[in-house]
This record gives sequence, C-alpha cells and structure tokens, in this order.
Amino acid sequence: MSLLVQKFGGTSVGTVERIKAVAEKVAAFRQQGHDIVVAVSAMSGETNRLIALSEGIATPREMDVLVSTGEQVTISLLSMALNTLGCPAVSYTGSQVRILTDSAHTKARIKRIDEGNIRADLAEGKVVVVAGFQGTDEAGNITTLGRGGSDTTAVALAAALKADECQIYTDVDGVYTTDPRVVASAQRLDRITFEEMLEMASLGSKVLQIRAVEFAGKYNVPLRVLHSFQDGPGTLICLEEKTTMEAPAISGIAFNRDEAKLTVLGVPDIPGVAYKILGPISEANIEVDVIVQNVADDKTTDLTFTVHRNDMKRAATILEATASELGAREVKTDDKIAKLSLVGVGMRSHAGIASQMFRALADVSINILLITTSEIKISVVVDEKFLELGVRALHTAFGLDAESAAESTGE
Ligand code: ASP
Ligand code: MG
Repeated sequence: MSLLVQKFGGTSVGTVERIKAVAEKVAAFRQQGHDIVVAVSAMSGETNRLIALSEGIATPREMDVLVSTGEQVTISLLSMALNTLGCPAVSYTGSQVRILTDSAHTKARIKRIDEGNIRADLAEGKVVVVAGFQGTDEAGNITTLGRGGSDTTAVALAAALKADECQIYTDVDGVYTTDPRVVASAQRLDRITFEEMLEMASLGSKVLQIRAVEFAGKYNVPLRVLHSFQDGPGTLICLEEKTTMEAPAISGIAFNRDEAKLTVLGVPDIPGVAYKILGPISEANIEVDVIVQNVADDKTTDLTFTVHRNDMKRAATILEATASELGAREVKTDDKIAKLSLVGVGMRSHAGIASQMFRALADVSINILLITTSEIKISVVVDEKFLELGVRALHTAFGLDAESAAESTGE
C-alpha cells in the first residue's frame, strides 16, 4: 500500500462526465488499498475565462480571489462524485489545508504545508481532494501560484506527505524523446532524470510546469506523467540511478522557435564591455538565453545573444544606444532562428556527442549559427526554416526513432 498524490489537469476534469470518470479512476486506486490525495486544476478554459472577465479592472489581490474559484468548483464536484461511488472523500481549498505561501499575488511561492488535517482524513480512509494552484499568505489572503501551478501544488503535497509517488495525469501518455508532431517516430521515455526534464521543459516541452519539476528535484519526489484515460506506465521522472541503468547518451531533443538573435559587431575589447552591453538589457527585464562572445582579433570583438522573440525590438533599441556609446561598428538582429538541443545525462560520460551532432546536421546541409553547451545539453541555433529537418536528423542520428530502438533491442 502506498501514499499517492494524483494530479488531474484541466482537460481531465473539463466536463462533469470527465470528473465522474476521474472519480472512478481514483476510487479504483483507493479500492486497491492506497492512500490517495488528489490535486485538481480548474475545468479546462475556466481560468482563461475568469481572467478575461477582469479585463481592464484587474488588481493582484482580487485576481487571486477570482481565479482561485476555478479549482474550488472541481474539488467539490470530484468529491461529490467520489462520495456517490461509495468512496469517502473530502475537499479542501488551499487556504483550508493551509498551503502557506508568500504574498506575491498571482505568482506566489509555497513556503509550508500543514499536512495534519490531510493525515487525519487519510487515517479515516478518506480520499483528500485539494484545490491546485492556490494557497494563503500569513495574513490569510488567497494567493495563486502562477499559470500551470496545480502541478506545483501536487508536488508540494507529495513532498510534505513524503508520498511514494506524485502522479500527474494529463492528456499525453508521458514525456517523449521529442515533439511527436514534428517527429512521428518519437517515443515515450520510460524514465528521465529531474535535470533532463528541467532542460526539456525550459526548452519548450510543455508537459509540466518548470517550477514543479524543480520542486520535485529538490525534495526528490518521484514524479510520473501519465494519460488520464489510457492505461500505460507513463514516464517516471526521478534521480539518476547510475548503478542500475545503462543510460543512453541522449534522452531527448528539445527545440524552441521563440527566440531572436542580436549581434553587436566591433566593440572594443576592454574590461566591462559585456557588462555594458548586457546590463541595460537585464535592467529592462529582458531575459537573455544564449550568449556568445568572439575571441578578439583586432582589438575589437563581437557579441551575440538571444532573447525571446517578443522582446527583440525592445532589446534592439537598447542595444543600438549602447553600441553607439561604445563606438561599436554595427548591430544586427535576426528573428528567423530556432534552437535545437540534445539533452541527456549520459553525455557526461560519452565523448564525441558534439561532433556526432554537428555531423548529423552537416549531412543534411544545415548551417549552424551558434553553439552552446552545458554538462547535459548541447544547443545549436540555426535558421528557423531548418527546424523540422534538424530535429528529425538528430532524432535518427542518436538512435531515438521508434523502429531503430526496436531493432536494437531485438523486438
Ligand atoms: N488552472 C490554473 C491554470 O490554468 C492552474 C493549473 O491548471 O495548473 O493555469
Ligand atoms: Mg497544466
């Protein structure tokens, strides 16, 4: 018998019929003897609808009072559906549990969870249904955790209760080697490490809220992504198990077409230049991703960085001003780029992954614009029109295609 935290997202509770189907699923787990805590999102579309209602009059504290109602609807309906099935259940809002957060309305962070009531209910054999995405600050104000925050609620509950597993039920059956809409032969991964999942998520695989993965990694909460209404093992996100697992070098290929590249050419090669260029960008709250500076050859250097595409115009205006101050030669911008990344903890111990990657791209005549690496990731920036071609080439080159995997295991 285990203690499980199960989270159901908006589409899984999108209609009353679906809520009843979720109730049956949860009741079946309870029947097997597990202790179950459920965290739920609002019915799909509901949070957006609530936000739209407040257009033009929104204030942070009242936004949280407003949007937290979405989840309150689903906890009550799910608990009623469970009770109707003869499975005793009780619902709690975030404030009722006392999911204590800071006071940063609409993007609060969880500080502590009082799990006493939940434990008492579990001991009485009840399923405990908790509203995702919300909490309360010290003063008793309702807070919310940012979009997609129900994932974080579930992980935080699992951490507080030391649950055996936090199961995230959603509309996909796991985490894939890459986006199946781009590569038809993409495969579901049986397992992936927290670190890899963070890279995949921050690079655009939107299965889980990034903060939830960070939280799970920090408290070592085994996290499993599963399909709400199809059976299957899903994908387990956990710590690396070096001893039992011969990790493949590459777990997945992430990509992102939301970035734009800015280059300043011919800046003097003196101390403080990178700071002078990037300082004003960060002061404007523009997030910078890749940064590359060239080796100086003629006492001047070139610096290139990428930002979110939506920020490019703003960044360019700031950069033009800095460039003329520094006496730089020219500023260039390009928003037709895409970033492709190989992700895998296995690359720590495998040499030659980078050259294998560059050869695969060369074989399909893709020109690489920028290259950056970290311990478990190699990213290249290429012309946007090569995105699909590049992802497919890499997926094949690193043996991630479904058929080649089947061949290699002799199935
Ligand atoms: N209902 C909230 C949202 O749509 C939280 C969640 O679903 O995770 O962002
Ligand atoms: Mg979600």
